[in-house]
Amino acid sequence: KNEYDYLIVGSGLFGSVFAYEATKAGKKCLVIDKREHIGGNVYCENIEGINVHKYGAHIFHTNDKSLWNYVNQFVEFNNFTNSPMSLSKGKLYNLPFNMNTFNQLWGTKTPHEAKAKIDEQVAIYGVENPKNLEEQALSLVGKDIYDHFIKEYTEKQWGRKASELPAFIIKRLPVRFTFDNNYFNDIYQGIPIGGYNKLIEGMLEGIEVITKTDYFSDRNKFNKLSNKIVYSGKIDEYFDYKLGILEYRSLHFENEILETDNFQGNAVVNYNDANYDFTRIIEHKHFEFGKQNKTVITKEYPQEWNPGREAFYPINDVKNQSLFDEYKKLSLEEKNLIFGGRLSEYKYYDMHQVIALALTRSKKELENG
Ligand code: FAD
Repeated sequence: KNEYDYLIVGSGLFGSVFAYEATKAGKKCLVIDKREHIGGNVYCENIEGINVHKYGAHIFHTNDKSLWNYVNQFVEFNNFTNSPMSLSKGKLYNLPFNMNTFNQLWGTKTPHEAKAKIDEQVAIYGVENPKNLEEQALSLVGKDIYDHFIKEYTEKQWGRKASELPAFIIKRLPVRFTFDNNYFNDIYQGIPIGGYNKLIEGMLEGIEVITKTDYFSDRNKFNKLSNKIVYSGKIDEYFDYKLGILEYRSLHFENEILETDNFQGNAVVNYNDANYDFTRIIEHKHFEFGKQNKTVITKEYPQEWNPGREAFYPINDVKNQSLFDEYKKLSLEEKNLIFGGRLSEYKYYDMHQVIALALTRSKKELENG
């Protein structure tokens, strides 16, 4: 018998939820992570007493009451509501697209006026069968919204012209005919009081964790330590990239500490225009209604990915998706191995989705074994 029931590779939400559930069921777990900290992409770094979202702004939201209760057993959440602003052509607008935005853009005052304006724009600029992202967006919301909020932002995000991007990237562009700036439609939303590290620490309390340890630095040794492996790293890396490399889009973050208590008055401000290289500025203290004398802001720059950079967004086009399907087939042949999480499923998941997934997987696993 091996020393551990489960070796869990990755201390992000997937690995941490799995570890918590397995430990609760009486199993012995060892969690390893190659980074110098736990938490994966929800990790926050404390700078000037402010929780800085090191891997991008994270706002927790869900419609699932049991999942909300689940996370609240580890940490309480505040009532932060995500209401991003967008700076476009020198003017600030409310997001998501709602009656405030339409008023700021066109001066429309009633839902009837705003609807008529959008219908008119779509009738003029829409196309029958949109062949690229630009045509798709014009067909959904018309030219004014596209020019102010979508074109340049999207081109920075993907590093390509909107007319060269596939239409499927934008499936819908929700518009709201109420004066409601709440970005998410979910019933439950907030930020852990004291930051996301509290959530992860709560899950991993009493469980053995080793950071700065890469599974691939000695996989034979790690395999012998436990009966089963729970792997939340990249699926192509697990198979030594033998079928090829799955591609991602990356981000680069630049933090600044400023000698002011309030830089932009909001947690998230999008910078639409092409003359700014970054897509948004995050002012972290506002996630927790911080009262510190200083502030920390982060400029978010989209960038090309290569295997040396952080993998943020999977490129789920036909080429990459079929490569993933081949890796997925290989993974099903592996014994005593559980794959899960955003990197091993090559899929963008919100936090609540990853937690739900880890709960389902661990339940299935622990009921059988
Ligand atoms: P990760 O958090 O990536 O954890 C995987 C861990 O495995 C990492 O710590 C990694 O170091 C470790 N690992 C990998 N390979 C190895 C190895 N070989 N050996 C040891 N360790 C290894 N979700 C929301 O709900 N709301 C948001 O507002 C939101 N904002 C986001 C913003 C950005 C920019 C991004 C990219 C994502 C956002 N998300 C958001 C999604 C959220 O980050 C993910 O759902 C979540 O972090 C996924 O958890 P995970 O455990 O699958 O992966």
